[in-house]
Amino acid sequence: MQRISPNWTLNAGMRVMFLRPTGLRPLRFFSSSHMPVTIVPNTSANNPVALERLRFIVNLTDPVFRGVYHGKRKHEDDFEEMKRRSRDAGIKSLIITGTSLRESRHAVELAKEHGFYATVGCHPTRTTDFEKHKSGPEGYLKSLEDLISANLTGPGRVVAIGELGLDYDRTHHAPINIQKEYFRMQLSLVKKYHLPMFLHSRAAHADFVQILTEEGFGNNGGRNVGGAGGVVHSFTGTVEEAQDYMNMGFHIGLNGCSLKTPGNLQAALSILPQWIMFETDAPWCSLTSTHASKPHLDELPSKYRSVFFPSGTKPDRFVMGKPVKSRNEPITIGGIAWVVYCLHQKAREEGLAKGEQMIDMPYWKIVQKAYKNTIELFQLPELVDA
Ligand SMILES: [Zn+2]
Repeated sequence: MQRISPNWTLNAGMRVMFLRPTGLRPLRFFSSSHMPVTIVPNTSANNPVALERLRFIVNLTDPVFRGVYHGKRKHEDDFEEMKRRSRDAGIKSLIITGTSLRESRHAVELAKEHGFYATVGCHPTRTTDFEKHKSGPEGYLKSLEDLISANLTGPGRVVAIGELGLDYDRTHHAPINIQKEYFRMQLSLVKKYHLPMFLHSRAAHADFVQILTEEGFGNNGGRNVGGAGGVVHSFTGTVEEAQDYMNMGFHIGLNGCSLKTPGNLQAALSILPQWIMFETDAPWCSLTSTHASKPHLDELPSKYRSVFFPSGTKPDRFVMGKPVKSRNEPITIGGIAWVVYCLHQKAREEGLAKGEQMIDMPYWKIVQKAYKNTIELFQLPELVDA
């Protein structure tokens, strides 16, 4: 098992999934059935929402789901149990993110094995790998390209290029000039393969926007230069930064880290429905009790709590079939969507809303919108319900 880095992106991440709580009627638990059922919209936060209409985006990296923490095995491999919980909570599929050549290969393998999807790219903190490659940066790029071109169709296919971008919080992994150079270099693959991007930007907004703009991605998601849009995932920026991304034609992915501070909540609230996506960044970026999201999460109805946040154990007291505390899982995606729903409810009550179009949407509808955005961006027509 490979070592887990504090940087969650260092491992092939099973990311972006589609929660599809199917077969669930109000006041009942989820079933794994995929039968379409009647929709019962309900706009009250205190009443059950028709979960059969819920769909989510989720992420999770994998070694902790094999029981390995920081390179040490702490408990049995419970990947299949995690998958079962996800499926029972309605997760319809997963996109497994690649964060380096090696991890991208792993992501594609996992995607093929489990019938999910993968992304291929090099995360900013891994960009020194370009220069360490035996055939140099061009060879590294070529290897990424070969992986993409060989896996463009069918189950397990590559649906996005990424992660790619800039991370100035972690320049000890790769200096700024290296990050910039290989961010730009990977954009050539985007133009050539017309795939959406899985973008990462941390404390680097001005440079991030500048490079994208210079390369022709400054508007319409880069479609004028062969691009196909993208999502700026794990968004932790400001209202103004969110506005920039929407103006450029990019979606914005929210997870627990995106809902940490009052400022984060304001920015999350400003995202218009057509640009919103939900994710978890599991096993990182949990929603925690010290975050600004907490009061909203406290309002989560118990029928959802039991599905999205079932009681777990510490790794050293592991019980097969139970989640592990501190290890985020795809099922918590429902909590992300719930917090966003509450933000809009509250803003509407207080007359402070910025994302006015979303403000009257019930929970299920916000989730449905994010699901639809995901299917459209990553071009997954097979996941559209009949
Ligand atoms: Zn990232």
